[in-house]
Amino acid sequence: MSPILGKVWTNGVASSEIDSREEGLPGARYSIVCDDLTRLNHSCGPNTHKYSHMPSFSVHLRAMRGIKKDEEITAASCDPDASYATRRAHLARLGIRYTCPACVKPATSDVRHDRIRTIFGGYGTSGSETKNFKLPKSTSVEAVVDGLNLVEAEGLQGTAAYSLGLYLMMLAYSANRDMTNAQMRARRYCTWRLAIDGTDMDEVAEELVQAVERIQKS
Ligand SMILES: [Zn+2]
Repeated sequence: MSPILGKVWTNGVASSEIDSREEGLPGARYSIVCDDLTRLNHSCGPNTHKYSHMPSFSVHLRAMRGIKKDEEITAASCDPDASYATRRAHLARLGIRYTCPACVKPATSDVRHDRIRTIFGGYGTSGSETKNFKLPKSTSVEAVVDGLNLVEAEGLQGTAAYSLGLYLMMLAYSANRDMTNAQMRARRYCTWRLAIDGTDMDEVAEELVQAVERIQKS
């Protein structure tokens, strides 16, 4: 592979509006390459999320959690949701052999990922799928809290599991009329939607108000 094609392959950000197969990830058929943003080091538990923004033909980068002073800014070059073996295989295709902090103990990480999938896996993969979500009777609040703790421990705040956890907790607190805690999760959920694809926070807040009204009537 030529050096230029190699850079595009490893650093490009897939445009979901041209090719949805590998949204936001390198190695896709159509990619955007930026001078700086696409050269961030990879982490399977990254502190930022990047996505393509077609109206401005640019890449947007947003923090997914608090970033400490002097902490390295990282982004995922693979699907952080996937198992260790799947992540390694994808990264090897891109020529990335670096072991990120999230991959130092793959056995522990895989167990956590499995547990997160068990708790949140059945709830879809994008924030928009939660619009008409109903709290299943079989899901305990304890399991959701456990899931959110594992998501944070693995640095997976950029995945749908995190948004679903926040959304479920908002509904659970709303059902109990604990609006202080419900609003805290709602704010984080709105920020997540903004960070993941630029969705307007007021628009999301309106969706949440309707969801809360539904659960409080039921
Ligand atoms: Zn890793």
